[in-house]
Amino acid sequence: MTRCPTPGKNASCAPENTRSPQPGAAEQTMPEAFGEDVFSFRLMRERLPKEVFERLRNIGRGGRGWAPYDADVVASSMKDWALSRGASHYTHWFQPMTGLTAEKHDSFWVPAADDRVISEFSGKHLVKGESDASSFPSGGLRSTFEARGYTAWDPTSPAFVLRHGGTVTLCIPTVYYSHTGESLDRKTPLLRSLAALSAQASRMMRLIGFGDCEAVTAQVGAEQEYFLVDRRLYEARPDLVMSGRTLFGARPPKGQQMDGHFFAAIPQRILAYMNDVETRLFALGVPAHTRHNESAPCQYEMAPIFEPANVAIDHNMLIMEILSRAAGDHGLACLLHEKPFQGVNGSGKHNNWSLVDNTGRNLLDPGPEPRSNLPFLMVLAAVFRALHLHGPIWRICVVGAGNDHRLGANEAPPAIMSAYVGGDLEEIIDGIISGCHGGDCPPASRHVDLGVSALPNLTKDSSDRNRTSPMAFTGNKFEFRALGGPQSVSTINIAINTTVAQALSDLCDEIEQYAAQKGLATREAADELLPEFFQRHRAALFNGDNYSAEWVEEAARRGLPNLRDSVEALALYDRPEIIAVFERQKVLSRPEILARQHILLEDYSGRLLIEANLTLRLGRTMMLPAALTWQERLGQAALTAREALGENEPELAAYRDIRALSASLSRALKELEGAIQSVEAVNASPLEKAAQARDCLLPMMAAVRAQADQLETVVDASLWPLPTYGDIFWSI
Ligand code: ADP
Ligand code: MG
Repeated sequence: MTRCPTPGKNASCAPENTRSPQPGAAEQTMPEAFGEDVFSFRLMRERLPKEVFERLRNIGRGGRGWAPYDADVVASSMKDWALSRGASHYTHWFQPMTGLTAEKHDSFWVPAADDRVISEFSGKHLVKGESDASSFPSGGLRSTFEARGYTAWDPTSPAFVLRHGGTVTLCIPTVYYSHTGESLDRKTPLLRSLAALSAQASRMMRLIGFGDCEAVTAQVGAEQEYFLVDRRLYEARPDLVMSGRTLFGARPPKGQQMDGHFFAAIPQRILAYMNDVETRLFALGVPAHTRHNESAPCQYEMAPIFEPANVAIDHNMLIMEILSRAAGDHGLACLLHEKPFQGVNGSGKHNNWSLVDNTGRNLLDPGPEPRSNLPFLMVLAAVFRALHLHGPIWRICVVGAGNDHRLGANEAPPAIMSAYVGGDLEEIIDGIISGCHGGDCPPASRHVDLGVSALPNLTKDSSDRNRTSPMAFTGNKFEFRALGGPQSVSTINIAINTTVAQALSDLCDEIEQYAAQKGLATREAADELLPEFFQRHRAALFNGDNYSAEWVEEAARRGLPNLRDSVEALALYDRPEIIAVFERQKVLSRPEILARQHILLEDYSGRLLIEANLTLRLGRTMMLPAALTWQERLGQAALTAREALGENEPELAAYRDIRALSASLSRALKELEGAIQSVEAVNASPLEKAAQARDCLLPMMAAVRAQADQLETVVDASLWPLPTYGDIFWSI
């Protein structure tokens, strides 16, 4: 073992032996190890009676369900497999409204006759769990005395075993709901939204002549950004440990200015960590694929290959967990927060989204002839409609105190929801709106000439990458870019699926009515209506610079809401028009929405209060004492200088400056204390409390930070109590 220096500002530690290998890992190749810890559909096909497996795969399709004892058969097979993988416990693995995953482990082993233990895990253990839910947020959905919460197996996402610290636990993905049958989690509404989207998208496909379309699955690839910092430096920063972000920190002489980090060679220590993470994820069947340095110092990204949304979202929860757990084994800490460091880029999560039907068609693939690709154009029109009419729903689904630091801060899209499709597609859409046909229309594909004759003839993509747009079309998928690094991908997919389902449903209704009125086939009706569909929702298409001030004005003219912060967005959650969309698509009921609004507002004020209290505590117990110590020393120096040389010596000026700064810090801390007390005493609705927290705490915290950061740049470095940004950025 490497001996680590005592925690402190200049400490740094990389353990020699970073991690004990997984059993058998050394002899295995990556492809062999892929999915070895997953009770996959392939394994189930091999191990289960054929008819049980068929029923399992078709659950929910066309109202199909279980037969008696199916669950027992699956449970017995799952248990044998888990025990063979070394599992001692099982857990229902769920996603409550905390934003994290939750688990309560039970042992497979129970006492039997003659002082032995036997393994026990039946259908009833697999299918349903009941636990005390009183400490999970419920947003008032149940009274304190109604503490029961239930978990129920989600057979569409495979079970897996999770290894940690020598323990092996069978994890069964489940939904989570209350005694009264309301969802308390992020998986239930996701599954409902996927069903709604599938129903409406396949209805649309059949209306336009694709009779073989029975189901449509949303596919998701979630890119995950994160920071890695030396663990000793992390542990010496209580703000990072307790709030996930730095509440203090002056701009270092070297930050992101040189753009030298993005895509640069990955440091060896980081590469070893990434490799470890990928190996663990591979065993869990997560198709980890891409890794690279990101824009800010110490920032990285990983992306798996896309999968059906439900599995991709479970996998993203696992990715965040493994990224965090593995970091400790490499002497690192993984920061998932949206804005761990002021002044450099924060971390987002890009949600790549497409729609694939049961025949394998990607409905977002423009194909060689996008102008006549009706499924593609209809989905595009539905996405515009969803953004135009229901943009606030998308915005609500990316709220969070952390994400407010990113959105609109010239590193992430603004809070205005719109779509980018690139110049070629915009021309096609405008052509359709203006009734352009065949030869009159401009050609869709062009070539790129790089002026280097040795290079092949490169076809130009139909869209560039517009990194400023919240919803950018990128070839055969949309990339939603406003999600925060630590956020569950579930929420934004619930928003996209539900609103696009609603839009498709409206468009289909219109097509059916028009066809009936005009005596047309529905495909012809869709063709005739398409220009109007695009025309009506053209406002949601914006190919320009979303970071610019002009777009804010232009969006206002177009009537697109700009919900600048989480409180503004959440205030709209209980509007009738928003509840109506969720209810019509049977994704969330009114009580479920009100509960979510309540939970998210409380989460917002709770986080701000933690940050404000931390700012106060660190300011009083670390920054101010350091400043006063330095002030005292400068005072001594000033006295000596005055006695020896007179009033005009620089020592006196330095003393006066530090005194002024310390006094300002002290005053700002006093004001912050008052603000905290006033917010803590608020006895009002969660919305009013969140608004108070935003209006009173954020400016006071900023005032304290401004003084402290200034002090950091003048106080003797050996007295400064926290590792600085420079220490953290350039230690690996
Ligand atoms: P970028 O260049 O945008 O950073 P990455 O390669 O990091 O792209 O990530 C792109 C993500 O999009 C990956 O997760 C990839 O699997 C996913 N993706 C690619 N095609 C599709 C698709 N048709 N539907 C959904 N996701 C997709
Ligand atoms: Mg990427």
